[in-house]
Amino acid sequence: MSPASPVVSAPRAILRRLHDVMASRATVQAKLNKVVRAIAGAMSSEVASIYLLRDGWLELYATEGLAQEAVHVTRMALSEGLVGNIATNRTPLNLAEARAHPDFAYRPETGEDVFHSFAGVPILRREQAIGVLCVQHVDPRQYEDEEIEAMQTVAMVLSELISSAGLVDEETMARARAQNTAPVRMSGTKLVDGLARGMAVFHQPRVVVEHTVAEDIEAERKRVTDAFQTMRQQIDKMMSQAEFAGSGEHEDILETYKMFAFDEGWARRITEAIDSGLTAEAAIERVQQRTRIAMRKTQDPFFLERLHDLDDLANRLLRIVAGRMGTAAQAGLTQDSILIARNLGPAELLEYDRRFLRGVVLEEGSPTAHVTIIARAMGVPMLGRVKQVRDHVYEGDPLLLDVANEALFIRPAPNVIKQFESHIALRARRQAEYAKLRDLPAITADGTRIELMMNAGLRVDLPGLSVTNADGIGLFRTEFQFLVSAALPRREAQTRLYYDVLHAAADKPVVFRTVDIGGDKAVPYLKDDDTIEENPAMGWRALRVALEREGLLKVQARALLDAAAGRELNLMFPMVTEPWEYEQARAIVQGQVDYLITRGLPLPQRINYGVMMEVPALAYRLDELLPKLDFLSIGTNDLIQFLFAADRSNPKLADRYDWVSPGVLRFLKMVVDQAHAAGKPISVCGEMGGRPLESMALMGLGVRRLSITPAAIGPIKNLVRHLDLAKLRQLMDELLTRPSPDIRHRLMKFAEDEKIPL
Ligand code: PEP
Ligand code: MG
Repeated sequence: MSPASPVVSAPRAILRRLHDVMASRATVQAKLNKVVRAIAGAMSSEVASIYLLRDGWLELYATEGLAQEAVHVTRMALSEGLVGNIATNRTPLNLAEARAHPDFAYRPETGEDVFHSFAGVPILRREQAIGVLCVQHVDPRQYEDEEIEAMQTVAMVLSELISSAGLVDEETMARARAQNTAPVRMSGTKLVDGLARGMAVFHQPRVVVEHTVAEDIEAERKRVTDAFQTMRQQIDKMMSQAEFAGSGEHEDILETYKMFAFDEGWARRITEAIDSGLTAEAAIERVQQRTRIAMRKTQDPFFLERLHDLDDLANRLLRIVAGRMGTAAQAGLTQDSILIARNLGPAELLEYDRRFLRGVVLEEGSPTAHVTIIARAMGVPMLGRVKQVRDHVYEGDPLLLDVANEALFIRPAPNVIKQFESHIALRARRQAEYAKLRDLPAITADGTRIELMMNAGLRVDLPGLSVTNADGIGLFRTEFQFLVSAALPRREAQTRLYYDVLHAAADKPVVFRTVDIGGDKAVPYLKDDDTIEENPAMGWRALRVALEREGLLKVQARALLDAAAGRELNLMFPMVTEPWEYEQARAIVQGQVDYLITRGLPLPQRINYGVMMEVPALAYRLDELLPKLDFLSIGTNDLIQFLFAADRSNPKLADRYDWVSPGVLRFLKMVVDQAHAAGKPISVCGEMGGRPLESMALMGLGVRRLSITPAAIGPIKNLVRHLDLAKLRQLMDELLTRPSPDIRHRLMKFAEDEKIPL
């Protein structure tokens, strides 16, 4: 065949013929017979054949050029022959001499002994091979790339024909898939402990291309051009909002996205595929198949990452063109589900229906990122850094998630399911043990009362108070309400929420933290210019935003004052860096108090003002600050990221530094000692307090009040009740005076000797 073969010069003509065949009223068999004839004619080839997967076998379904007696007789196993090779690897083969290939299997009934060259492509449906299209020639010759591409285009159309004719036997597909996709165990990093069982749901659902042959090429071209434009605008927007990292994507990914989105070569290949007669969706997928083949072949991790980015972007383009931009949250979950995503923003996670969201698996993720904190607050187990999980999971796959063992089981085998069920039973027994502690106080074995409060942020967290019998809410993250709203929440809505929180807490204290927006907590409606922040966590966030957008804090203060009328209000400010920031924030609240007084409106009985210790510099200003405060709360998530200069949401740094290292503990001790000396209550409200060993270290430093995730209250109370605090304090003093690099092990040993359950 010459390079200017008809299939290359006129793929459009062949697609038009296929289209006519598809539209005709003939039987499926007659249609397939016509298709092979058309392909053989267009490719000037002696043989064109279609094999379809039936009952787990690849059956010769139609042929032009091979013996007709072989049709429906010749069957190949998936592990057999060139056809089996193509279906299994979902990759084309292009051979000048078919017999030279190790997988060649000769079938005398077909009469194929006279043919030398062979080219075949998989017929794919939802990324599964449902058949194979191949051509053969008498002459030994290598096919041109363009010819293979043309065959792949034809295979796409055939896929539509075959599935619309009902020839995709779903059972066969499922069985073939089970053969291709045996149970897999993948490992990751523990983010939120727990066990979960559910079916796989992709946060960004995959679009299944239904129509492949274009009716109007010009219209399809325009659809793709418009989609590219929309996609480029979306990426520009994401980049300009990168300081909020709102979409969950990191900046380097966005850079790569941008590079591909503006890559003329990619857009051109898609347009060429449309010119060959495909719809916009089919053309995007057609070009995407190339990326997928390259992904299966490449060994280079860097290149593989880039191919993933391109594949992601192709999915995005497909969703735009198909008008399916919504996430799985918008489509709604209908059964127990485990969410699969590359990464998620905190607001994105909050959109999911908790009744069905059983677990989350991320390719990225880190333990103190806000999305993780939200998952923890929602009680949703979360496994992070499961590399390329989206390549191994199919939508709808059964999954088991065992975060304690950092494992995800995809399509688990029965013995794994059994083991999993015994884990669930064990955990339920442990939970029942914790439940028994509900009404017992958190008092150490040597008689010190430890206050265990819980962290919250949404109305749905409130039942946790009575479930755990926590001593109150030690951190109410008010910004969660802002994160779930499309616009700035109105004062009335804020007041209602705060009122409900106080009402649920009854006589227990609640500490409201004023909005901590910015960093990885994105609220696009609060953005006022196009400044791109290089370091959003250290940027325009928290109190820095609130002081500049005075109206924001004023409205919130008013909502809090109204909600707490007649009772005690505890208010604290995040990310205070210098004492003047606290004073200014307090003055704004006081301004609202004065306003209420002049109007004769009701006020809280008392207002306690507190500050979060999150920025290291503030530790050296406590002598000035403490006398003006009612309490101090240490936000270890931010504090530690600044102490170590290690981004809390960077997965690569997630376990690099130990929270119980001498640097952190000495720093914390300095803060705790100063608060005690000043007679001011001090608590810890970061994630550190909810981890058993770490919480023990904190108690050893003199911390008596922890505000932790509700799920941690049972285990920590259990620990407290076994603890001899005097002994622990002695050990901590010793460990900090002569720092030992293995504080973690020393504490573990202590727990073991003292029979403290960690
Ligand atoms: C912290 O930084 O430790 C904290 C409690 O606040 P957040 O996690 O909301 O930043
Ligand atoms: Mg913080």
